[in-house]
Amino acid sequence: MAKKFPAHRIKANLVYDVWDAAHALGCHKQTVIRWIKNQGLAADTTRKPWLIDGKELKVFLGARQTKVAAKLVLHHCYCFGCKAPREPDGKIADYTQQTHETGRLTGLCPACGALMNKVVKRSDLEVIRARIEVTVQKASPRIVSRADPRSNVTIQQKGQTDGKTQQG
Ligand SMILES: [Zn+2]
Repeated sequence: MAKKFPAHRIKANLVYDVWDAAHALGCHKQTVIRWIKNQGLAADTTRKPWLIDGKELKVFLGARQTKVAAKLVLHHCYCFGCKAPREPDGKIADYTQQTHETGRLTGLCPACGALMNKVVKRSDLEVIRARIEVTVQKASPRIVSRADPRSNVTIQQKGQTDGKTQQG
């Protein structure tokens, strides 16, 4: 798992060599070298020691952090079958309100057909709806019946309590 580096310790108006940068960030020199060689961190490598503009380093770390944070984007669910984040099949999902602030987003994995779900914030729903079609459910998610249209299983809704079904 990629770790977060303390970009605030880097001063935009300073120039760092690899060692200084690694020291300031509390990481290994090789990590910084790898950023320069493989990950597009801008540096002056025409002579030794390699020099990195503090401003460039800050931008690089910021972009890197955003990438890490965006790994599981809002409208994706984690599929335990594929062990990977997936966009719900057909870009459709159900949202079942669970508490005042949160609800469960349910969709099908486009790769293996497994039911995926995750808890999302009610306030994130609009962002999610910009990407996929979300139907807000009052109680039992319709996705359960759509998951296997051939089966005649009747879903018994035991009261309308907190919706803790076996898919949870
Ligand atoms: Zn899957």
